[in-house]
Amino acid sequence: MPDWKKIQITDEAIEKAHRMNSISKDDAFDLLLDLIENGESAKFKGTDQDGIELYRLENEYMYINDNLLVNYSRRNRYSLKIATEIHAAEDGRCENCRRAMDKRVVQIRKIDPFIFNELSNYVLLCPDCMMNQPDVLENAKFTELAIERYQEIRGISLEQSISELDLIKKNLVLLVVDGGRRKYWFPSLGVFTFHQGQLSIEHFYKDVNPSFEKKPQQRSRKWSG
Ligand SMILES: [Zn+2]
Repeated sequence: MPDWKKIQITDEAIEKAHRMNSISKDDAFDLLLDLIENGESAKFKGTDQDGIELYRLENEYMYINDNLLVNYSRRNRYSLKIATEIHAAEDGRCENCRRAMDKRVVQIRKIDPFIFNELSNYVLLCPDCMMNQPDVLENAKFTELAIERYQEIRGISLEQSISELDLIKKNLVLLVVDGGRRKYWFPSLGVFTFHQGQLSIEHFYKDVNPSFEKKPQQRSRKWSG
């Protein structure tokens, strides 16, 4: 374990933090200082062949060698532990568009880059809001086959099927994101695949019984705080 109080910051690390975060070099230095101050809670990730130790704090990485911070990096992805905590705190809803999603697909945006170990410093977003783009489902269409199969399994008219599928589309839960392909789930109905603007059926449950009443969000840090 390094003696965090003795760590010196190298120019290379400042340069990297400056470029990666698009902040001034002074701010980059402050950021690294804050990181080091929180070093005690960083997680040790391993040592490379040159003896450089890697530590992770949230999504930030510190490369330490002989009480020197020799390099820095940051990843967009946060640990599943942080994602799980924020996902639970927001009842799994995007804080911008309210789309429900699985904890494995959540995106996290930090509000103040200089604050660490503070859950309230994060916003939980769906992948679309993270990219500042409209929800891909907004213009998505169910395939003809999907509409047909839905009508069949529900035993209702085509018009009613289309109107129910419209409600379903608004409340699909995002399960998996894999490049341009996604999977969405609807409770008591099944799983849909999204690809190139189209929604098709991956599978329906044996007994389908979809409810069109939207399950209200149970909790949010905004309400409890
Ligand atoms: Zn969203």
